[in-house]
Amino acid sequence: MVSDRRRILIVGGGTAGWLTAGYLARMLGADRPGGVAITLVESHDIGILGVGEGTFPTIRKTLSRIGIDEAALVRRCGATFKQGAKFVHWRHAPGTPGPDHYLHAFQETDDHAGPELLPYWLLGLAGDANWDDVNTPQKRAADAHRAPKLPSHADFLGPLNYAFHFDAVSLAVLLREQGVANGVTHLVDTVQEVLLGEDGAIAGVRGAESGVLTADLYIDCTGFRAELIGKALGQPWKSCRDTLFCDGAVAIQVPYAQPDDPIASYTISTAQQAGWIWDIGLATRRGIGHVYSSAHCDAEAAEKALRDYVGPAGAALETRRFRFDAGYREVNWVKNCVAVGLSSGFFEPLEATGIVFSEVAAGMIANLFPWAGDFETSARQFNANMRRRYARALDFIKLHYFLSARRDSAFWTDNTDPSSAPDSLKELLDRWRFRPPNEIDIDRNVDIFTESSWQYVLYGMGWKTDLSAKAGVYRFANEARAAFAEIRRQGDFAIRQLPSNRELVRFAQGSG
Ligand code: FAD
Repeated sequence: MVSDRRRILIVGGGTAGWLTAGYLARMLGADRPGGVAITLVESHDIGILGVGEGTFPTIRKTLSRIGIDEAALVRRCGATFKQGAKFVHWRHAPGTPGPDHYLHAFQETDDHAGPELLPYWLLGLAGDANWDDVNTPQKRAADAHRAPKLPSHADFLGPLNYAFHFDAVSLAVLLREQGVANGVTHLVDTVQEVLLGEDGAIAGVRGAESGVLTADLYIDCTGFRAELIGKALGQPWKSCRDTLFCDGAVAIQVPYAQPDDPIASYTISTAQQAGWIWDIGLATRRGIGHVYSSAHCDAEAAEKALRDYVGPAGAALETRRFRFDAGYREVNWVKNCVAVGLSSGFFEPLEATGIVFSEVAAGMIANLFPWAGDFETSARQFNANMRRRYARALDFIKLHYFLSARRDSAFWTDNTDPSSAPDSLKELLDRWRFRPPNEIDIDRNVDIFTESSWQYVLYGMGWKTDLSAKAGVYRFANEARAAFAEIRRQGDFAIRQLPSNRELVRFAQGSG
């Protein structure tokens, strides 16, 4: 008897492929009689990228929906707790007076009772303290290497918002195991040919060993190779290199000197002469990488800067090099094929937007899956939404560069040249000269970054919003002062009471 089940074929088994497979298997009932049958084919001759260690808080819900709990993630993937991204030397070159860092904290700004605090901070009520310091206890707690929560569930103010750092290769293995447990059929084979029908849709893919594989929907997770969406269907890549100059990375894995060394509870991103260095603390090692612009520095110089940053601990360690072209496809769903992961788009990992875009795409495919065969409607909605998402994320990442006061190298001069910023970003900045970003600037259906994120980066980079013309309307100065004091008190409490990131990791390793 021929099965009338709908079928999905995912080509590619990196983070994007297995995350999408495990998620769709749960959402579309792969293990149920009327559900969608899901097969994933991945090549053993073509490896996975195997980087991607920093995530966004959405990952918690995504993993839990897939069926992976926190304890398994910590035990299996060296995961640690990430509370944001700390940006060092982005605003000014090293040695310049003034704040040399800020935190893009994951804690939303509107979590506390009382008046909205940002206007009062802008009017100077918190003195010369930085916005990230006065708006949330998270900055001070994370600076002290505190974890975002207590080991028990009895949290004193709920957990501080968090995501994870993890080892990307181990995560792909864990995702694969869970995907198979969720009902995904796993094939190991290399797709050698993509067959197109007369209507231009995919008629099947030919595997070296499996022969022709067919499905109702094909998901291209083949990474930068983009075998289906790019090579077979010819959808162009929109390069954003004129906005985001970085196109190379060199990475190294550095073990801790002592097993008890503190683990930073945020990604540390330190600006360089021609790029920036990420520093991510996992349970047993740090993952460190220099993202750079090849137009402003060559690979050898980039590696030297990385090794200078790491110091003697990295002297005998090998590095890995990557090249990429920042950009995305404006059309990611064509007929019966949709791209997820690097085949769909990629921006430098400054705000860990890689995996979150796969989460978003998987969520949308689950919602828009054309059960009744109406592919065109789903494709239109998917493409319009993803295009806007990419454009908005591009603005947000460029913001980190564009507001810099650095002029100490051509990289920074070029990055702050108005011609390098999208008009959409300049329009946003224009709005925020006389009022801060708030919810009316954000479309929660397309924006990954909320107004809190924009505020942390904007004011961390020293942006001035002039509220003097309406200063008279802010009449809750006493309440605002009390709220600033309360946040400070919460910070003291968090530093005293919360375990360290390493202690919480150890606790999670032993539980579950
Ligand atoms: P890949 O990992 O490249 O997987 C491709 C898969 O397709 C493989 O399984 C391969 O076998 C398969 N394949 C290819 N061709 C065929 C074929 N013909 N037949 C069968 N199978 C095939 N993201 C973040 O969220 N946070 C970060 O901190 C972060 N850091 C990054 C740092 C760098 C330097 C780079 C370059 C990226 C970073 N990313 C980060 C992005 C992140 O790595 C990717 O989003 C993620 O790994 C997903 O990759 P992928 O699954 O799309 O592709």
